[in-house]
Amino acid sequence: MDKGLLVVISGPSGAGKGTIYSRVIERTGMQRSVSVTTRAPRPGEVDGIDYFFKTEEQYQQMIAADEFLETAAVYNNFYGTPKAPVFDNIDNGRDVLFEVDVHGARSIKRKYPEAIAIFVMTPSFEELERRLRGRGTETENSIATRLGSAKNELGKYELFDYIVFNDNIDDATERVLEIINAERCRVKNNINAITSLLK
Ligand code: ADP
Ligand code: 5GP
Repeated sequence: MDKGLLVVISGPSGAGKGTIYSRVIERTGMQRSVSVTTRAPRPGEVDGIDYFFKTEEQYQQMIAADEFLETAAVYNNFYGTPKAPVFDNIDNGRDVLFEVDVHGARSIKRKYPEAIAIFVMTPSFEELERRLRGRGTETENSIATRLGSAKNELGKYELFDYIVFNDNIDDATERVLEIINAERCRVKNNINAITSLLK
């Protein structure tokens, strides 16, 4: 393939993005994107692996120098995706996988329209609620907020290239892998390989 793919997995909280993301990384060895943040490292977190930890001043300098593919303020801290490592991977033929919320997916698509955006959704909103509860990580308040956002997020479907209904986790992961494989086979992603054969 000429260039690597930039694949974005998005969707509402609880739909299974994180689960599918980990499985796809495990199965494909695709590159992860390491974000930059201004929040303090938690015990055990390693700079350059979990995040690139920066001061707010350093972060603002990175914004001014247009070094981000997307950036957002989350819970009083900044988080962003640095462009350089992503494009270094893509330019060297390595595929990069992202797991981001719908706002993040929109920002990435704006800056890099060739990105392949996959929306992960549960078969129903009732099932989304069951999964959020079952995960056991959210308060009642936070579950209500996340469910309240979910319909709005699904309403942004036009931003996306694919939708994968996460009914059964093995089947849903397989469908994401099939999408990635099909994208790798697109003629437009193999022009160099084709023209060199034609020489
Ligand atoms: P997200 O990253 O989109 O917030 P998670 O990957 O954390 O979602 O999944 C939410 C919860 O649902 C987790 O407890 C996860 O183990 C569970 N889960 C994910 N996919 C499925 C599935 N296909 N069937 C049942 N439970 C699932
Ligand atoms: P945490 O501080 O718990 O690691 O992450 C807090 C939140 O920031 C999570 O919702 C996470 O998805 C979000 N986040 C982490 N990295 C990025 C990023 O690069 N861009 C955006 N937009 N959000 C991020």
